[in-house]
Amino acid sequence: MITDRYDEVKARIEAACARAGRNPEDVTLVAVSKTKPEEDIQALYDYGVRDFGENYIQELRTKHDDLPKDIRWHMIGHLQRNKVKYIADYVTMIHAVDTLPLAETIEKEGVRFDRIIPVLIEVNVAGEESKFGVTPENCVSFAEQFAGFPHIRLEGLMTSAPFVENPEDNRPVFRKLRQLAVDINKKNIDNVDMRVLSMGMTNDFEVAVEEGATMVRVGTAIFGARDYSK
Ligand SMILES: *Cc1c(COP(=O)(O)O)cnc(C)c1O
Repeated sequence: MITDRYDEVKARIEAACARAGRNPEDVTLVAVSKTKPEEDIQALYDYGVRDFGENYIQELRTKHDDLPKDIRWHMIGHLQRNKVKYIADYVTMIHAVDTLPLAETIEKEGVRFDRIIPVLIEVNVAGEESKFGVTPENCVSFAEQFAGFPHIRLEGLMTSAPFVENPEDNRPVFRKLRQLAVDINKKNIDNVDMRVLSMGMTNDFEVAVEEGATMVRVGTAIFGARDYSK
């Protein structure tokens, strides 16, 4: 059952917290429901789950329309500027902001909907060619730009670590993201408070929690493998 798998992931997060001397309440499990049917989301919702992550705007819109309105929707995927307007009024957090034009668009939508939109900067810590995100070198100066965006609250950093056989190999990636957040906090930038580290997926979330993740984004371990052929 999907709720059993959810509980298993929760238990593994708690065990990782115990190893690291952390409080499990400081780690939000975002259930990544992309490509998965609304029945699965509803089953978890009925069980008490409220935080869900999606990657595709059209899918997110449909699910938001159909499902209970108190779901906290996290946009975790790469976001095109011209799509921001479809989610700006309800999205709980935009995890993958990595360009100034995208931030400017989010600011504009924040003005339009009269809300302050929580965002994270996506950092390409490992420098993978195929991945979006700012480089660690540019991350601090990018964060400083958010002082000029009163309708955005920069709450932290996000990364997708490389796919590795041994999750231990990603420990330095997670450590680096945490250090970047510390560096940015020291700057005391307006509208910026680095409280969130969104890192860790099915393959490596326990290591991420040990290294300070406050949000883990887990899909496969909860919903099962995704089928993109349909
Ligand atoms: C799909 C996705 C996840 C979840 O991946 P799993 O390996 O299925 O847990 C997490 N973060 C992002 C950005 C994703 O695109």
